[in-house]
Amino acid sequence: MDERFEQVRMMLLEQKREILQKIRGKKGEIGDLRGDFIDIATDSLEHELNYIFEEREREKLQNIDEALKRIKEDTYGECDECGDDIEIERLMALPFTHLCLDCKAKQERQKKLRIYVEQES
Ligand SMILES: [Zn+2]
Repeated sequence: MDERFEQVRMMLLEQKREILQKIRGKKGEIGDLRGDFIDIATDSLEHELNYIFEEREREKLQNIDEALKRIKEDTYGECDECGDDIEIERLMALPFTHLCLDCKAKQERQKKLRIYVEQES
């Protein structure tokens, strides 16, 4: 494993722990509410909110696990576009990014250009 990413790995593990705790905490909360609110509408709204919340957290968890796996396999921190190392500061701020700053900027420019072209035609 690349020593440079130890800090990122610790941060990701911490984030993972927080999310798991949040999901577990949320479940407990809703379990408690159920006794007080028997109303079906409230119940389904609660269910929906819970679903949205869990989807988002689950997605984050997936991102974290994927990044942790890449750190372990030594494929983490490489730009998908140019294969260069992504700056460690950038990884600390955006641990799930697959692109270096240059390629990201290029991609953004292309996206803007595409929107511009689409508007013109
Ligand atoms: Zn790149």
